[in-house]
Amino acid sequence: MSEFRNYEDPARPSVKELYRLNHRHQTLDFVRGKKQEYLSLDRKEMGVWEALELLESLVDDSDPDTELSQVAHALQTAEAIRAAAHPRWFIVTGFIHDFGKVLCSFGEPQWAVVGDTFPVGCAFSRNIVYPELFAENPDTRVPEYQSRLGIYEEGCGLDQVHMSWGHDEYLYHVARDRLPDEGLAMIRYHSFYAAHREGDYRYLMNDRDRELFESVRAFNPYDLYSKSSNPPDRTALEPYYRELVEEFFPEPLRW
Ligand code: FE
Ligand code: FE
Repeated sequence: MSEFRNYEDPARPSVKELYRLNHRHQTLDFVRGKKQEYLSLDRKEMGVWEALELLESLVDDSDPDTELSQVAHALQTAEAIRAAAHPRWFIVTGFIHDFGKVLCSFGEPQWAVVGDTFPVGCAFSRNIVYPELFAENPDTRVPEYQSRLGIYEEGCGLDQVHMSWGHDEYLYHVARDRLPDEGLAMIRYHSFYAAHREGDYRYLMNDRDRELFESVRAFNPYDLYSKSSNPPDRTALEPYYRELVEEFFPEPLRW
């Protein structure tokens, strides 16, 4: 499994370039601006299946593990969850977890959509991928943003914390109210490796976050280790996933 998330010698040079831009530009101001821009969810109404079609041709530049399309990744993740006999909400969560990447089709560059996420407005953990690239981030020159707690209070809860902007936070808001809290936490924090893998930032979490992170951790292997270069058989799987999506998302969503 150590062959996944190899950033030392990424197969594609686009990976490090993406993080260079991401770590330079994800500031507290940037995140607040994107939330303002997107979280009113008044861009368009579309069903989950329409979102899938927008993702058809997208290859994630931050991902050192796969060059398959996002549709293949959605199916591989969900199929692995289904094979482990998890409940239907978990399978549908796996299926849609990356659909926030439709931000790319709204003109957002990949560095503002994909990649690992991290809190802004407080010190950047050394366990975030390519930590040295934060030297270019203007927030490192704002002392208030570089203390352990930054602008936050101890135990304030992650809901109060501004995460670097991307597909996770965005889809959480789009899918809100349609999935159990566990599924929403999986969506919102699946790229927050510094927390769910390294155990950092616990001082920003409350008890509920710590509970929900059990689910975030349970989700991660299906996201990561289901990646294989054999594309899944979309035609054979499509009827099952159309029905599943219909069950949880019968109406178009606001994006
Ligand atoms: Fe993702
Ligand atoms: Fe994913």
